[in-house]
Amino acid sequence: MTTRTKLSKEDFLKRLKANTAQSKTSSATYLPKFKEGETRLRILPSVGDMEPAMFWSIVGKHYNLPGGNAEICRDITTMGEYPCPICEIQRELYRGSDEEKDLAGQIYASRKIYFNVVARPNGDPKSYEGPYVMEAGKTIADGLFALFENSEYGYIADPTYERVTDGDQQFEEGGIDVIINRSGTGRLDTRYEVNPARYGSPLAPSEEAINEILEKARDLTPYVMTGDPEVDREKSADALIVVETYEHLLQKYSMIGDSVEEPEPEPEVEETVVEDAAKNEIQERLRARRRRS
Ligand SMILES: [Zn+2]
Repeated sequence: MTTRTKLSKEDFLKRLKANTAQSKTSSATYLPKFKEGETRLRILPSVGDMEPAMFWSIVGKHYNLPGGNAEICRDITTMGEYPCPICEIQRELYRGSDEEKDLAGQIYASRKIYFNVVARPNGDPKSYEGPYVMEAGKTIADGLFALFENSEYGYIADPTYERVTDGDQQFEEGGIDVIINRSGTGRLDTRYEVNPARYGSPLAPSEEAINEILEKARDLTPYVMTGDPEVDREKSADALIVVETYEHLLQKYSMIGDSVEEPEPEPEVEETVVEDAAKNEIQERLRARRRRS
């Protein structure tokens, strides 16, 4: 029997694992942008707390915010569970003048779909690089979802691929790579096409290699900050997708949506220069708006 005060081997391993998980966080690698032509990828199954049938995560992102900031949208990222102050500001602006409508359009949250993937260098189904996190836009995500729903291909994220014998019938079962074909390079003429590979294959040549890839893959479950620094520090350490608190975002971006009667809040002393710049920009816009109204 070990006493409670002594660090058991199990506890030691747990701590070691926690440390490894943290160092993994700092090296979050996103899949580089697609070059023109074909890129062969393998979509990975769910890891960590991700639901097995949902091996992706939908992330809303507000771009072009004051100060050049981008923020994760609370509403979209939590599938409507938590309200987003930036969406609320955006909706209010949309009801305003042409200029405000234009601003509303710029900060509107766009949907990104996150997947864990490995790349197949040179299109070779036996090679692998990664895992990476792929941030897919609508076209690629729609193409992938169409494949997932197509019963002809089945569960394409299955890391295994094998020949199954059922009585005197033989068939093959398991995952399939996807091939993404990019044509065009400009903002307006870029097209993406998503196709399944002609033949299925395992994720990696050995079970050991498969396990190693899945171990390194990121848990794409969003972590919603609670506002309690101690809890958040620990729980957000391993999260790739961190959803800020309503109050944090409101404090950072609120002035756009303030009613005209309310006095402007004093700038907080401890805020960073970037946040101050963002605030000044918003306040400037608000002043311009008040002058008009
Ligand atoms: Zn939002």
